[in-house]
Amino acid sequence: MAAEAERAARPQALCLVLLGPPGSGKGTQAQILSRRWGIPAISTGDMLRSAVTSGSELGRKVGSIMADGGLVDDHTMAEVVRRRLEHDDAAHGFLLDGYPRTLAQADTLEEMLQRQDRSLDGVVLIRVPEAELIRRTLSRRRLDDSEEVVRRRLRLYEEKTEPLVGYYQQRDLLRVVDGDRAIEAVTDGIEEAVGESA
Ligand code: ADP
Repeated sequence: MAAEAERAARPQALCLVLLGPPGSGKGTQAQILSRRWGIPAISTGDMLRSAVTSGSELGRKVGSIMADGGLVDDHTMAEVVRRRLEHDDAAHGFLLDGYPRTLAQADTLEEMLQRQDRSLDGVVLIRVPEAELIRRTLSRRRLDDSEEVVRRRLRLYEEKTEPLVGYYQQRDLLRVVDGDRAIEAVTDGIEEAVGESA
């Protein structure tokens, strides 16, 4: 079905977060589902990378942090995401990829959505065994990423982002999907997991 038709067929907006470590395939799944459901995939990593490429003020601020595999501060990220969620195309829902990454960001997102009179419909955790993650991230790493930077991203995920699993479990929003299979099988898994809840 064409994206427009699917959106029309969807009774209400679908606000989803995709959660998972670097290499879990969030970005790939967000792209596929965005086309299928006619809602935007919002990737904070892509947004920041294009800011760096364009040399904007934001790009100059975050360039070296990203290159080192660090996390951009919560305040800056809140501004980036708030503006993006106010776009018309996000009125019918969205797939957030790369945000929230910390507990503070999760609280901020909740407040942001509350102010727009909406809330998350679900959070999909794409689970992949650690050995497979390391294999994937090392093989696809960008030219300028050292192994050390890749490992730092994984470590920061465990430290700062993994606590979101419990956070969203408590809110009964978490859906876990096995990401250690073919791309299409993961997409089907997400559709199934979300279909039950949204
Ligand atoms: P990954 O390669 O881990 O999938 P992304 O493409 O999502 O990473 O993001 C790349 C980089 O952008 C991160 O390593 C981080 O420096 C920055 N970044 C993206 N989203 C956030 C966020 N929500 N909070 C802090 N930093 C972020």
